[in-house]
Amino acid sequence: MTREALEEREFRELAPYGMKARASRGRRHPEPEHAYRTAYQRDRDRIIHCSAFRRLEYKTQVFANTVGDYYRTRLTHTMEVAQIARTVARALGLNEDLTEAIALSHDIGHGPFGHTGEDVLKEKMRAHGGFEHNRHSLRIVDVLERKYPDFRGLNLTEELRASLLKHGKEQLHLEAHVVDASDRIAYNAHDLDDGLTSGLLEEAGLGDVALWREAVATVSARAPSIDAEMRRYHAVRALIDAAVTDLLDASLDRLARAAPADAEQARGGERLIAPSRPMDSKQAELARFLHARFYNHFQVRRMRNKAQRYVGEMFDALAGDVRLLPPRWQDWAREEGLEVAVCDYLAGMTDREALLEYRRLFHPDAGTMVE
Ligand code: MG
Repeated sequence: MTREALEEREFRELAPYGMKARASRGRRHPEPEHAYRTAYQRDRDRIIHCSAFRRLEYKTQVFANTVGDYYRTRLTHTMEVAQIARTVARALGLNEDLTEAIALSHDIGHGPFGHTGEDVLKEKMRAHGGFEHNRHSLRIVDVLERKYPDFRGLNLTEELRASLLKHGKEQLHLEAHVVDASDRIAYNAHDLDDGLTSGLLEEAGLGDVALWREAVATVSARAPSIDAEMRRYHAVRALIDAAVTDLLDASLDRLARAAPADAEQARGGERLIAPSRPMDSKQAELARFLHARFYNHFQVRRMRNKAQRYVGEMFDALAGDVRLLPPRWQDWAREEGLEVAVCDYLAGMTDREALLEYRRLFHPDAGTMVE
C-alpha cells in the first residue's frame, strides 16, 4: 500500500478526532514524503533506530540495571506502555502509529538511575539552565542525535515533539493523553509485579489495596485451584485489564458527550482520555502503597543513595576540569558551556556506563580507557 493509500485509509477508518498523518504540521526541516510510510510511521522508525532508544535497555526503572535480569528496565517498561497505548488508541479510533511513536519515545530523556539521576542533575544544573527529563527528551531528538548530514537531530513531526514536552497537557493530541494514561497503568502494574518478584513486597501486605483485591478475586473465581505464582501473574494481568477497560469506557463516554468534530477541537477544553473517578482513586491508592512499601523500601533507598553519590561526584569532577572529558565532549563543552556538556554526557549514560565511568574516574585500580 502506498503512503497516499495509507493516508486515505486513516480518513476512512479513524474517528473524526483521531489525528491524521496528512494533517501533520510537518517537520522543521522540510523533507520529501516517503513512498510507503506515513509521517508518523516514519517518526516511530526514527525513534527505534536512534541510539538513545537502544540505551533504554540498560536504564533503571526501579531496580538498577545491574541488580538482576528479571526486572523491568526502561526499555521493557516502554514496550509495555506502547502495547497498552496501541490497544487503547485502536479501540478509540485514534492514530495508532502516532500513539506508538509517542509511547516509544516517552521516556527517552531519562538519565542513568531513573529519577535519582534526574534529581542530581536538576540540583547541579540549577544555575546553568536546569535539567528536566521531558525537556531533555526534546533536546535528544532535536540536538543530540546526529544521524543526518543536513540537520541536527531526528527532524520529527511537530506533533511528536510537542508530546515529548508533556507540558500544557490539555493542549496535546488525544494520542498523547492515551500514552500518559497507559504509562500510569503500566508502571503501577509492573512495579507491583517486580516488587513481589523481588520479595521486597509481600502479597499479604496488599490486602488493603482495592485494585489488587479485585484482581485476585477475578482470578480465583475463574481458577480456584491455581497455584500462588500463577495466581499472581494472572492477578497482575487482571489488574491491567480492569484499568484498560475502565479507561476505554470512561473515555468513550466523554468522547460521545463532547463529540469533538476533529483532532484540533479534541485538544481544547476538558480532558477526554482519562480513567473514571473511582478507577482514578484506586490507581492513586495503589501508587501510595508502592511509594510507602516499595520505592521507599530500605534496599531501594540504599540503591538510590549510591546512585546519587555516583552521579553527583562524577558531575563535580568533570565540571571541575574540562580536560577529564573525552575530546569529543570537550568540543561540545566549548560549544554549549561546560556544565551543559557534562549534563548531556552524564544524562546520556546507561546505568552500566555510569558505573564504569565512576570506576574510571575514582577507583585507583581501574583503567581509564573510555570506549
Ligand atoms: Mg514511563
